[in-house]
Amino acid sequence: MKTELALLAELHQDAQRQGPGSEEATRLALSLTRLSPDAPLRVADIGCGTGASTLVLAQALPRASILALDFLPSFLQRLGERAQALGVARRIRRCLADMHCPPITPASLDLIWSEGAIYNMGFASGVRTWLSLLRPGGILAVSEITWLHECRPEALERHWDAAYGEMGTAADKLRTLEAAGYEPLGYFPLPASCWTENYYDPLEARFSEFLAAHPSPEARRIVEEERAEISLFRQYGASVSYGFYIAAKPATSSRPDFSPHRRHNT
Ligand code: SAM
Repeated sequence: MKTELALLAELHQDAQRQGPGSEEATRLALSLTRLSPDAPLRVADIGCGTGASTLVLAQALPRASILALDFLPSFLQRLGERAQALGVARRIRRCLADMHCPPITPASLDLIWSEGAIYNMGFASGVRTWLSLLRPGGILAVSEITWLHECRPEALERHWDAAYGEMGTAADKLRTLEAAGYEPLGYFPLPASCWTENYYDPLEARFSEFLAAHPSPEARRIVEEERAEISLFRQYGASVSYGFYIAAKPATSSRPDFSPHRRHNT
């Protein structure tokens, strides 16, 4: 019998993405990093799934080398196939590892990317742990579930507070980043289409085939939970989204960062 994790992997492994987001949002967040797209950046995409953001980064940063890290082999396999098809596989190194202790040299990265995945560590612990992997002046770009308003429908609040112990507003998340030692550079919430058109609609379309392949109580329970979350979003989506947070590890010097990898507007 398949474990819950194996069933979840199977439900999601043929999808373009495993969480809310879009190519436009990835590109907007990348522009807020102010990194030069022409620099030979060292990048890690942590919790990369089947490569939704990894592949956008590989195309937008033609000289970057990207470590794509995930703990599910089937996701990395799909990412490899997609990277081959796009002709960017040479610059992507797939890494099967746990995001709690990534096999990455401290202070070696120009950019850490992570979409919809840091909740697995908890935002506060994740941003603290990953700070040490960035070079001084390096950038973190991370998406994280975020309350859009101080007042929320009770049913929505109950659902997400039970699912994740670090629900908070953008102000809470920015405070967490500052407390961990980052300088916030930008924030924007993902539009609802990132959830519906790009994530929930394709997920719903896979349910019947998944249940036919796995006629088990575990598979039924997974689908029921997904359906409940989708229904809540359809009712109350305006109160919750993913927020994209872009923040810098301060350069060691107190002077502005004039490293060649940063783009400066004149
Ligand atoms: N970034 C992808 C996207 O936006 O499509 C995937 C997002 S999905 C919601 C979260 C990802 O984190 C999954 O690919 C999952 O396998 C990965 N993940 C969860 N826990 C992990 C861990 N402890 N170490 C590494 N990857 C993990």
